[in-house]
Amino acid sequence: MPAYTPLSSDTIIKIKEAVGPDAVIRDPDKLIEFGKDAAEDACTPELVVEATTARQVQALLRLANEHSFPVTPRGLGTGLAGGSVPLCGGVLLSLAKMNRILAIEEGNLIAVTEPGVVTLDLQNAVKEKRLFYPPDPASLDTCSIGGNAATNAGGPACVKYGTTRDYVLGLDAVLPSGEMIEAGVRTRKGVVGYDLRHLLLGSEGTLGVITKLILKLIPLPPALTTMVAFFPRLTGAMETVTAMLTRGHVPCAVEFLDDRCLEITGDLLPFQEARAAKAMLIIETDGVQEIIEGQMEAIGAICLELGATDVIMAPDSLKRARMWEIRRAVSLRIEESYPLYLHEDVVVPIGRIAELVGGLRELEEAHGMTIYAFGHAGDGNIHVNIAAEDPGRRPRIEEGIEILLRRVLSMGGTISGEHGIGIAKKRFLPLELSAESIRIQKAIKEIFDPRHILNPGKIFI
Ligand SMILES: Cc1cc2nc3c(=O)[nH]c(=O)nc-3n(C[C@H](O)[C@H](O)[C@H](O)COP(=O)(O)OP(=O)(O)OC[C@H]3O[C@@H](n4cnc5c(N)ncnc54)[C@H](O)[C@@H]3O)c2cc1C
Repeated sequence: MPAYTPLSSDTIIKIKEAVGPDAVIRDPDKLIEFGKDAAEDACTPELVVEATTARQVQALLRLANEHSFPVTPRGLGTGLAGGSVPLCGGVLLSLAKMNRILAIEEGNLIAVTEPGVVTLDLQNAVKEKRLFYPPDPASLDTCSIGGNAATNAGGPACVKYGTTRDYVLGLDAVLPSGEMIEAGVRTRKGVVGYDLRHLLLGSEGTLGVITKLILKLIPLPPALTTMVAFFPRLTGAMETVTAMLTRGHVPCAVEFLDDRCLEITGDLLPFQEARAAKAMLIIETDGVQEIIEGQMEAIGAICLELGATDVIMAPDSLKRARMWEIRRAVSLRIEESYPLYLHEDVVVPIGRIAELVGGLRELEEAHGMTIYAFGHAGDGNIHVNIAAEDPGRRPRIEEGIEILLRRVLSMGGTISGEHGIGIAKKRFLPLELSAESIRIQKAIKEIFDPRHILNPGKIFI
C-alpha cells in the first residue's frame, strides 16, 4: 500500500483557499464519523471536505495531484466493503451535500442529479410524475445515487430491471488530475468511442469522482402484487426460484430469508407462519393488474408444487411495508447480536442456487461460524452473512470464507454481486481475476491516477 506524508499546515491552508473554509472540517470528534462505512475497517481522515460544487472537487484534486496527498470519495457511508474508508489518511471528500435533483425531464424520460441525492428521494420524486427509477438497494433510504453508481448497486428489483449501471446514461466525473470529463450520453443509445461511463461505474471511487448523473427513467408500472411463501427446506425454496425463472416468469422481486434469519427477525415479521418455516420467499410482480394476477397464480402453484407449506397472496399494505422493513434490516439485527460479523455477497448462476445454499451448514460446522443467508435469490445473489460469538475464531472463519468463494467460482459464480471489493475483499481478488486481467486493470488505474492519490488502498493498490 502506498505511504503518504501527513498533510502539512501549508497544504491545509491551500486546501482551505481552494475549496473555501466553510467546506472544511477539522474538528477531531467530527472527523471520526467520516472514518467508517458499514463494514469493519475504520481510519480517521486528517481533514474532511464537504463539497457543494464540482469546482471544489476539481480544485481539491488538482491540489492533491500537485502535493501528493490521498483523497477518498464518500457518498453516505453505507458501503459494505470499506470503499469510503480513508485508509491512507489525507482528505475525505464527502459528496453528501451535492444532493440536488437538477431536472426530471418527463419528455425524455431522464433525471439529472448530483451524486449525493438519497436513492429513495429520487425514487419518490420521479414517482410523483408517474415515472420509475428501479435500482433499489436495501439501504435505499440511507445511501446516495453517486455511491450506487460507484458500486453499481443492485437490489430486489434487479431480477427484472437490472442494476444501477443499466440506468446511468451519462455522468460527469472529475479525474485525479482535476480534469472534468463527460462520459456517456443523454440518449437511450450511444457507441462513440470506448465506454468510459461503464468503466467509471463500479470503479468504487478509484478512477474519478462522479459529480453529476444522467439517469434513465421508465414509466411507473400501474400495479404491483406481493406473495409470501414459506418452505420446510431452504433448498426447496431455491429450487422454486430456479423453476419460476426458467419457466418464463420474471417477477420484480424474489428475495429470501433462511431459517436463521427467520429466527432472528421472526418475532417482528407480521406472519405466524414464519416461526416454523425453514425459508421464506418474498415475490413481487408488477405491470398490468390482470396480467400480474395471472402470473402470481402460476408462481403460487410452482411454490406449492416444490413443497411450500404456506402461500400468502397479496398481504395488506401495512403487512407488506412491515415485511420489507424487516427484510431490509436483517443485517442490522445480526450485527447487533454478534461481535464478529462478516458480509459475503456471492452470486451463482440461477441453476446452482439450491446447490450453494445446500452446502452452507456443513461449511459452518467445519469452520466454527454461524451463517445467516438471505438476499436477492432471483439474481442468484446470496448474502452469506458470517457471524461468531468469539472473534478469536477469525483465522478458521477466513479459511471457511475462502472455501466458500472457491466453491462459488467453481460453480461459475462471482465473489461479489454488489458490495464490491474495497478493502474487505481485496485479498480474494486473485481467486477470480487472472494475473493478466489484474495487470490490465492496474494499467488503467495508472492512466487515470499515476500519482495514486484517489482512494488508495482499495481494490488493487
Ligand atoms: C443495511 C444495508 C443494506 C444494503 N443493501 C444493499 C443492497 O441491497 N444492494 C447493494 O448494492 N448494496 C447494499 N448495501 C451497500 C451500500 O448501501 C451500497 O454499496 C451503496 O451503493 C453505497 O452508497 P453510499 O452513498 O453509502 O456510498 P459510500 O459507502 O459512501 O461509498 C461507496 C463507494 O463508492 C465511492 N463513492 C461514493 N460516492 C462517490 C462519487 N460521487 N464518486 C466516486 N466514488 C464515489 C466510495 O469511494 C466507495 O468506494 C447495503 C448496505 C447496508 C448498510
